[in-house]
Amino acid sequence: MADATQFLPNATIHLHKHDLPPGLSLGPVVAVDTETMGLDPRRDRLCLVQLSGGDGQAHLVQLIPPELGGRGYDCPNLKAMMADTAVTKLMHFARFDVGMLQHRLGITVAPVKCTKIAAKLVRTFTDRHGLKDLCRELIGVELSKQQQTSDWGAVELTREQMAYAASDVLYLHALWAKLEALLIREHRLDLAEACFAFLPARGRLDVLGWDEPDIFAH
Ligand code: MN
Repeated sequence: MADATQFLPNATIHLHKHDLPPGLSLGPVVAVDTETMGLDPRRDRLCLVQLSGGDGQAHLVQLIPPELGGRGYDCPNLKAMMADTAVTKLMHFARFDVGMLQHRLGITVAPVKCTKIAAKLVRTFTDRHGLKDLCRELIGVELSKQQQTSDWGAVELTREQMAYAASDVLYLHALWAKLEALLIREHRLDLAEACFAFLPARGRLDVLGWDEPDIFAH
């Protein structure tokens, strides 16, 4: 089997169990993604939070339940960074990650930017807005999605899982730079910002049961 790390030749991956180290700053814009046991924030455990300052380094914070020897969601450094209003959290499909992080960590995640919303606002000629599609078409990076559906609840993650998880945050800064230029070109940056500002409330609505049917649906 191919080594998943071959897709990340220049990346450095740091695995932190239980929390970010104290005093670590990743700058004013931090790319964030999560890996979970499934897609329902109320049912499924948050297992991993990936972060990058956009410098080719990924920080993976693994949250392990107390019964498996961890500290559960007791992660004050991670919570502080996610809730810090001076740090913009850059995500792809932020609606899910914001809902999950807010529900599991008991915080408000803001401010947030979402590359999927940005793509939907400017790439109206296609319905392909997945991270893999955008990375290929906008920055020429080929992502592997092989580990997407693997068991993120495992106490010991594989190298392939860590490389996959890291790849979901390593390119978001480059992607955002392209998308922001397109939003400006198409005069939709203000609309994107209004959508981003709503994301913390959108995450709360989803967890409270207004995801289906959507509160904006007829
Ligand atoms: Mn991911």
